[in-house]
Amino acid sequence: MLNIYKIKIPTPYQSGPVNSYLIKNEPYTLVDPGPDYPMAREALLEGLAALGVAPADLARIVLTHSHSDHCGLARWLSDKACAPVYVHRLERRKLVPGYDYYGERLPFLRQSGLPGEVLEEILEDSDPLEMPVLNGRVEEVQGGEVLGFEGGSLRLLHMPGHAPGHICLHDCEQGNFFSGDFLLKEITPNPVMEVDPTDTSRRLPVLTQYLEGLRLLKTLDLRLIWPGHGQNIENTMEAIARAIRHHERRLEAVLRILEENCWNAYQVMRYFYPKIKGFQVFLGISEILAYLDYLVAGGQVTREDRNGISYYRRT
Ligand SMILES: [Zn+2]
Ligand SMILES: [Zn+2]
Repeated sequence: MLNIYKIKIPTPYQSGPVNSYLIKNEPYTLVDPGPDYPMAREALLEGLAALGVAPADLARIVLTHSHSDHCGLARWLSDKACAPVYVHRLERRKLVPGYDYYGERLPFLRQSGLPGEVLEEILEDSDPLEMPVLNGRVEEVQGGEVLGFEGGSLRLLHMPGHAPGHICLHDCEQGNFFSGDFLLKEITPNPVMEVDPTDTSRRLPVLTQYLEGLRLLKTLDLRLIWPGHGQNIENTMEAIARAIRHHERRLEAVLRILEENCWNAYQVMRYFYPKIKGFQVFLGISEILAYLDYLVAGGQVTREDRNGISYYRRT
């Protein structure tokens, strides 16, 4: 049996604290250390100390994905622990010095019809923390690997949709599941816009990937979900069904709007979110593009490009 402990780590973000998990079976393993700022470091060290564990006792650090609230402290902790960081290759590519987050997304934001001043607002609403970087000992994973422990094991599952290299960890014997940001109790994770690294002129089909992942989850034996934020999920099947329903409803709503309007992604986004600003607009556009790409791929919506902006209407 795996001995799992949750350590709540503060973040400077609206999303609130992040959950870090210690698996206190040899070799001691930590999932998602949290963001890189003093309060989080303190909370992590205190949390570990309360469990009688020093950073040097850790043998592995696993990252569910590269968002800075989850992984910022990985480099620091890996140095302190002399332990490797396990991360999917599609997330690792974003954890290198000089990675230009908006640079590779800018063409898509322009295509969305976003006015110049709103784009400025997004770019000026900068992250309070520096972009995390990994160096030192890194173990690239791709999903399917099994981490062995004294008394149990965790299988890594590649679960894209919120992040292209998102991994979840499944304890097949006891039904524990570390979902990262793939499935949360209180909120629906954003299908964040991502470039296809093999063809940077295209976006990844993030909603298709996400819904496929949710359907896969339904087939697993999940007793308890330990998410990246908030409370554990006991009624796992209900949470999965709710997430699927949420997106189905949203898809229907987008489809209804495009029956009468031929709109760009920014116009659709403003219909749903008239007041949001800055980074929230980026997330809003991300979400709407995920729905539009899904509907275009399914033939329910057609896309038409005019003057560099994509417009959508119901087929
Ligand atoms: Zn995330
Ligand atoms: Zn998160």
